[in-house]
Amino acid sequence: MSPIKHTRALLLLLTICAFMLAGCAAAAKTNLVPAAASSKLTVTVLDVGQGDAILVQTDGKNVLVDAGPRENSGKLVRSLKSNGVTRIDILIATHPHADHIGGMGAVLEAFGVGKVYDTGQLTAAKTYGNFLKTIKSKKIQLELLRAPSRIPIGREGAALEVIMPAEPFLQATRSDLNSNSAVMRLVYRNFSMLLAADATSEAEERMLAVCEAGKLKADVLKVPHHTSRHSNTVSWLETVKPEAAIATYARENDGRFPHRSTLKRLEKLGARYFNTADNGSVKVLTDGDKYEIRTEK
Ligand SMILES: [Zn+2]
Repeated sequence: MSPIKHTRALLLLLTICAFMLAGCAAAAKTNLVPAAASSKLTVTVLDVGQGDAILVQTDGKNVLVDAGPRENSGKLVRSLKSNGVTRIDILIATHPHADHIGGMGAVLEAFGVGKVYDTGQLTAAKTYGNFLKTIKSKKIQLELLRAPSRIPIGREGAALEVIMPAEPFLQATRSDLNSNSAVMRLVYRNFSMLLAADATSEAEERMLAVCEAGKLKADVLKVPHHTSRHSNTVSWLETVKPEAAIATYARENDGRFPHRSTLKRLEKLGARYFNTADNGSVKVLTDGDKYEIRTEK
């Protein structure tokens, strides 16, 4: 090989190496945890703007926790369809606030629904009345969510452990509807994810008082109340001790989310942080041992 050819070959080799390194860096951005060999359970924290909608899929079953705000219900239905949803086996309303149940009407219209779970917290809001009316007119089974209880999903052993609400309901809190919202721990073999709805500091205090610490521990946390500083207390977060935290909020929102103090607390815990405003929909894939997090953006 002549010196020139040698230099060219070296340059080519260096270029290939540079590409390979760039490829690795790009892959590392999304595959933050060792990849799950074959995903048996998927949780998609959907980007529905300012609100919650979380899709759990396992063993051919679809569970939808909340349906986001009404203005993004079209986007929600499209996202569910693109995730392969043709029917919803279990539909859960964590609490009757518009950013969680606003899209329920569109979901009930677009898909057959097997069963609905609701906390039964009465509110005069029209959205909630319409939600109940639709369930009744479609003759869908409606069950009250109460802790402690367990909702099995499919035949592979996945389940939702209901941690909140418990009776007697919390009263005279900053927001009783938020304080008594449904908090559930999704478990599948060695994997766990805490879906904390809009739990408040009062709700976190109740959880710490009634639950064994191990029952709150989770690999992944759906951050309470869009990162509110009135939730996410240090002692509660330290008990949950998540490796990854996923928060839901729109870039433009009335709650000044994300709250800086919550981000600092999560950072102190060493939790990787994702949010729907910056990352779009955030997907957690697991085989029950390892898990992987993929983001839309
Ligand atoms: Zn909310």
